[in-house]
Amino acid sequence: MRIGVLALQGAFREHRRMLEACGAEVVEIRKPEELDEVQGLIIPGGESTTIGKLMIEWGLMDKIKTRYNQGMAIYGTCAGMILLCKEIVSSNQPRLALLDATVQRNAFGRQRESFEADLTVPEFGADPVKAVFIRAPFIEQVGPGVNVMAKVKDKVVIAREGNLLVTAFHPELTDDNRIHKYFISMLKK
Ligand code: GLN
Repeated sequence: MRIGVLALQGAFREHRRMLEACGAEVVEIRKPEELDEVQGLIIPGGESTTIGKLMIEWGLMDKIKTRYNQGMAIYGTCAGMILLCKEIVSSNQPRLALLDATVQRNAFGRQRESFEADLTVPEFGADPVKAVFIRAPFIEQVGPGVNVMAKVKDKVVIAREGNLLVTAFHPELTDDNRIHKYFISMLKK
């Protein structure tokens, strides 16, 4: 099982460590052709405008879409989630626009720039997921094909649509690897 981690900016090293702890082989992705070697891709948190610009500059935007259409699964955390959504409220920044959802950036407000929450996620069993949110987005609207897996204050923070998985928070900054394992299980199908 080979998984790419987009390594342009942001928290890619933490995803690498987490995936390796789950037994996956990891390739850091900086060049389009590196995507041919992987069955899955993680787009990390960071700054979505910067990552989007670099994706275009480095020729990765179109190649990621091509590989997705060929069956590559993608998991986006935080800025990665923003880049996967079709609509971003009040922004025309570059994006992949694959997930049928509308996302709001920095959505929890200034008071709550960074916070933790315990999430109940039926797919991951009875133990709550301790989620770390950092200037986090949330999804405010989803299309009919999107499965909402968790909410905070009635806002969507984990969602899946086919081969796409998104979380508004950063599981790679905790030692709970259930979401990474879930992503890996999506690749085996
Ligand atoms: N606020 C950032 C953005 O809009 C995302 C923050 C993060 O990835 N932790 O891109």
